[in-house]
Amino acid sequence: MTSGERSGPGSNAGSGIAGSEALLARASAVIPAGVNSPVRAFRAVGGTPRFMASGQGAWLTDVDGNRYVDLICSWGPMILGHAHPDVLRAVEQTAARGFSFGTPSENEVALAEEIVARIDPVEQVRLVNSGTEATMSAIRLARGYTQRDVIVKFSGCYHGHVDALLASAGSGVATFALPDSAGVPRSSAAETIVLPYNDLAAVEAAFAERGHEIAAVITEAAPGNMGVVPPAPGFTEGLRRITREHGALLISDEVMTGFRCSRSGFYGVEGPYAAGPADLFTFGKVMGGGFPTAAFGGRAEVMALLAPAGPVYQAGTLSGNPVASAAGLATLRGCTADVYARLDSAARAIAGAASDALTTASVPHTIQWAGSMFSIFFREGPVRNYDEAKGQDVDAFRRFFHAMLEQGVHLPPSSFEAWFVSAAHDDDAVAHVVDALPAAARAAAGGA
Ligand SMILES: *Cc1c(COP(=O)(O)O)cnc(C)c1O
Repeated sequence: MTSGERSGPGSNAGSGIAGSEALLARASAVIPAGVNSPVRAFRAVGGTPRFMASGQGAWLTDVDGNRYVDLICSWGPMILGHAHPDVLRAVEQTAARGFSFGTPSENEVALAEEIVARIDPVEQVRLVNSGTEATMSAIRLARGYTQRDVIVKFSGCYHGHVDALLASAGSGVATFALPDSAGVPRSSAAETIVLPYNDLAAVEAAFAERGHEIAAVITEAAPGNMGVVPPAPGFTEGLRRITREHGALLISDEVMTGFRCSRSGFYGVEGPYAAGPADLFTFGKVMGGGFPTAAFGGRAEVMALLAPAGPVYQAGTLSGNPVASAAGLATLRGCTADVYARLDSAARAIAGAASDALTTASVPHTIQWAGSMFSIFFREGPVRNYDEAKGQDVDAFRRFFHAMLEQGVHLPPSSFEAWFVSAAHDDDAVAHVVDALPAAARAAAGGA
């Protein structure tokens, strides 16, 4: 089947998943749980993760030949669709001239220029290899700049697997967080204050008590890792005001939202702010176009503290890799106004049809947005923080997820994740999703 051809719901029934099962068995012998990132293991939904053989446009094909409309899009990076010809050409042409030099090269400069041109408050960036490295480095820089140690984060916000940021348990005012992961030193979590999202009073209270110790507040520009929970009006503005009053930095994590919610990320949707922008931003996902590159950046005066100019050490053998930079640059250049319009219309069509189907099947749900990024909570809304997100019916989602998968639609395998579309989600791909929704909604209701 070509990518333009439409396959009806149920098209994967009978193709089997023996290939994926065999690969999972092989993988599990040599890779813990058979996966290199936990959510891929399907633990939240059960069943066998599909091992993909190829992707083209909006479609994935697994090793057994089953085809799926992809609503993961590699968790965001594939904003132009899989194997986009312009990105592919950039990668091939660059790779033909060598893969990595360990010296400066031009592509990394062009990628940095592209990022700086898009987000006004970002005057300089440094390129790294993952979103985790970006937030880790931004935090070190904030600590070096303020000469303070404590970091404030919000429950339900994910900033990669940085020790100090894995603490997310326990909402409430100025809770001392316990690590969410074994292996994170108590001392590391003790330097992290975890607060409920969208609760400025909690932030005020934490700063009233420990403001002189706080190096930075880090927040997702619009959280997408507990499902999509947009900042309440005035929340981001309030964070800027409070941090400035206490001499702390504000770090806006745009790893997920950057270059997706708009050409300048969620900053482009919500900003500029009367109180001023964040001091530091982090980026990843879209800016690598599917390759491992990410960045952190902000005011030149803060960035000047980085080695070798300043005392805050930060480095990377493959940072600014020419091939990854070329892929990222081609992807960002491909993100035209038309692309953002298409993302928006595909997302609205899918979300609208999902809501209709769930309403018809009497499944409680709410859809939340950050630009064209959305997620569906299987509970009544609004969902304003992690505690409320956790109140959803995860079993209903599990049934919904598998019914979609069987019909050739690959959702993120967790109800706490955004659904990602690409500019390659054309009318055909959208129609395939829409056709699958009613049966999945009935399954969610327990009726099918
Ligand atoms: C994905 C993500 C990260 C971590 O990025 P990795 O490349 O997976 O290390 C950090 N912050 C946010 C907001 C993310 O969505």
